[in-house]
Amino acid sequence: MADKRDYYEVLGVSKNATDDELKKAYRVLAKKYHPDMNPGNKEAEAKFKEASEAYAILSDPDKRRQYDQFGHAAFEQGGGGGSYGFSGDMGDIFSQFGDIFGDIFGGFGGFGGGRSSRPNGPMKGANRRTGIRISFEEAVFGTEKEIEINLKEACPTCKGTGAKTGTSATTCPKCGGKGRVVFQQNTIFGISQSVQVCPDCRGTGKIIKEKCPDCRGEGYVTKKKKLAIQVPAGIDDGQMIRMRGKGEPGENGGEWGDLLVEVSVTRHPIFQRQDRDIYSTAPIQFTTTALGGEVKISTVDGDVLYKVEPGTQTDTKIRLKNKGVPAIGNKNIRGNHYVTLVVQVPNSLTSEQKDLLKQFEATFKNGDDSTGDGEKTGRRRIFR
Ligand SMILES: [Zn+2]
Ligand SMILES: [Zn+2]
Repeated sequence: MADKRDYYEVLGVSKNATDDELKKAYRVLAKKYHPDMNPGNKEAEAKFKEASEAYAILSDPDKRRQYDQFGHAAFEQGGGGGSYGFSGDMGDIFSQFGDIFGDIFGGFGGFGGGRSSRPNGPMKGANRRTGIRISFEEAVFGTEKEIEINLKEACPTCKGTGAKTGTSATTCPKCGGKGRVVFQQNTIFGISQSVQVCPDCRGTGKIIKEKCPDCRGEGYVTKKKKLAIQVPAGIDDGQMIRMRGKGEPGENGGEWGDLLVEVSVTRHPIFQRQDRDIYSTAPIQFTTTALGGEVKISTVDGDVLYKVEPGTQTDTKIRLKNKGVPAIGNKNIRGNHYVTLVVQVPNSLTSEQKDLLKQFEATFKNGDDSTGDGEKTGRRRIFR
């Protein structure tokens, strides 16, 4: 996966290609490399998958934004219970782009999508979706969340076969287990053959005579399960975590679909986030802005003391390098924290403080005009 090609390069489009341009580019490639057009050609299949993956990401505005921001790292993180992104297998591609394939291949008349051309082939189960809510800090530093969800799993009684204990599914006599049957027709051009899904076994190639009572022949049961979700550091609101194999069961021995967990991040009272950067405002005493000194600033790593120069103005923006959000999959890459300093003017003063400020004010009246362009030099002179 390390030497993966850039998705835009794969489709041969520019970084700011429109949705239409993406679709056009993908259609050309999908037609050229579709497995039905290149039977047994592994290279074409790889190219087809590559293009389909690129299109899957770039045609989804959210995923495209993530890709533009993080590159492939946005979708690749293996290990643990969770991994992210596009699985790249054919079942997924076909289930995602059924409409486009219909569109592309409709004109050919001969073959449909991946499903009907291989009725007995293994097919991946559908994906499911759920969501979790995490705090701002959990999104920054990563966390583990446990959810309770009704999950399908292979029926323990029949071990997923759907057949009653002691019996087993038998090979469909009509199609001989192939899942499809050949129909012959006499036409004016001679005998025409067409391959169709076996009506007796509906393409599975197997007939279950005595169904398992626990799953009524389905082969799976639904159970409430606790699921630990590894949330990676750096995840952003609206991003998806893929739990492989936790979706719907596949067909004909196909792998299980995935569970897609959408992450919602709760707003923080102080911090705002834009991609990997954090923004906040910090109060600063008016005496500190005038005299210079240290100001305490809250960051996701805790409070830091920042030294300000004398004469710092309100709305001064400072940058705290590498105090932002880490990149998904690489904690060493972090954004910055930008802080806007906002001068606090005291709204209650003791009589002593008032006297001191009046004395201070009086110094301006004796000197030159303290407003306008001369302000800075004027003040400096007074403080010295
Ligand atoms: Zn069963
Ligand atoms: Zn059959």
